[in-house]
Amino acid sequence: MSSYSANTWTVSDYLKVGLKGMPQGCLGGIDVTYRCNLTCRHCYFMKQNHHHELSVTEWLARFEALKKQNFPFMICGWIGGEPLLRKELVEQGKRYFKSNVVFTNGTIDLPYWPDVTFSVSIHGTEHYYYEMTGAKPGTYQRIKKNVDRVDLDVVLAFCVTRLNYYCIEDMLEEWSKTAVKGIVFEFYTPMKGEGEGLWLNWEERDRIIDKLLALKEKYGRFIYVSDRVYRLMKSGPAQRITNNCPFPKIGFSYDPMGNPKFPCQLGPMADCSRCGCILPFYSTLLTHRSLLIPEFANSAYRTFVQAFTTRARPVSVQQLH
Ligand code: SF4
Ligand code: SF4
Repeated sequence: MSSYSANTWTVSDYLKVGLKGMPQGCLGGIDVTYRCNLTCRHCYFMKQNHHHELSVTEWLARFEALKKQNFPFMICGWIGGEPLLRKELVEQGKRYFKSNVVFTNGTIDLPYWPDVTFSVSIHGTEHYYYEMTGAKPGTYQRIKKNVDRVDLDVVLAFCVTRLNYYCIEDMLEEWSKTAVKGIVFEFYTPMKGEGEGLWLNWEERDRIIDKLLALKEKYGRFIYVSDRVYRLMKSGPAQRITNNCPFPKIGFSYDPMGNPKFPCQLGPMADCSRCGCILPFYSTLLTHRSLLIPEFANSAYRTFVQAFTTRARPVSVQQLH
């Protein structure tokens, strides 16, 4: 296998994106492992019943093969399972991509990787966190200590469900006093025929989005999703977008064995008609240059797709994630 090297954004990359839009395979996710140390109530991944995973060597061989196919290696989300159970794979694999986001549950010490964004899933203040995850007592405070890092780029991911939406404002108040850069509030996506106990109906979701937009007056960009994306997530546009989700047209998704997943990381059982993930809405921006450019200009970004812009710095300043 040939050696690999750190990948970086160049001026030419930005020009290409500006002129031609985002290429096929520009962003996506890799399931680092089938294992996880939590059992969250809203988890889609464990329902996919993965029991095996490629070795690090096999993944690196896969990346080398993709290189030969001109795979763009732009934005990669390292998912799972709990990806930090396999730090070595992420450590080596992230060098292929220009931008990397590690989606972790925060229970394992964050490695010193200043070239990535950590998206730490904490779906509520302490009481609600335990409701959502069933984690052992003490876990919340341990995670809080673990992720409150000034030396790393850490954002929180909060999956809004019927169980935890009450604590959105308290969550903002509590975590805005820490070193984390902000919170991405997105909504629970049920699998087909499931999820009634967790899913919020459209009217409720619209009300919560309005509340998040209003809370931006106080918390500004600590609410880490742009107004434009939240407006797209409201009931009217949302259903039009997810009925013909743009993500599969530009994204990639691999399971722990390196098999492609369709239509996205959530797999074929995902109920697209009730999708609450920010991905289809960011993908809409990425596939419409007239929307993408103002999004860049507003710097209203971060997380997964947002990683693209947060890493938009000269290479000499920082290796890009
Ligand atoms: S931490 Fe993630 S992968 Fe693990 S159980 Fe929770 S939602 Fe599923
Ligand atoms: S709407 Fe898009 S992101 Fe959502 S579940 Fe369907 S394919 Fe996945």
